[in-house]
Amino acid sequence: MANIVVDKETCDGCGECISVCPESVYEFDDDGKSEPVNMDDCSECCSCVEVCPTGSITVDACE
Ligand code: SF4
Ligand code: SF4
Repeated sequence: MANIVVDKETCDGCGECISVCPESVYEFDDDGKSEPVNMDDCSECCSCVEVCPTGSITVDACE
C-alpha cells in the first residue's frame, strides 16, 4: 500500500490531483484542501505527484 502525504500548508486546492487520479484516492477536506481518503486504492501511477503545481504531494512509491 502506498503512503501518501499532502502538505496542507502548500496545497492551494486546485483539484488537479482529484481530476487526474484514476483510483479516486483524493477528496476535498473541509478547508478545500486535498485529502487522500482512499489511500488503499492507490495504484502508484504517480500522476498526482506529476500534476500537482505546488509540489504538495508525496507518494512513497513515486520517490
Ligand atoms: S499515485 Fe496515481 S493512483 Fe495513487 S493517488 Fe496518485 S494519481 Fe492516484
Ligand atoms: S494538485 Fe496539489 S495543489 Fe492541487 S489540490 Fe492537489 S495537492 Fe492541492
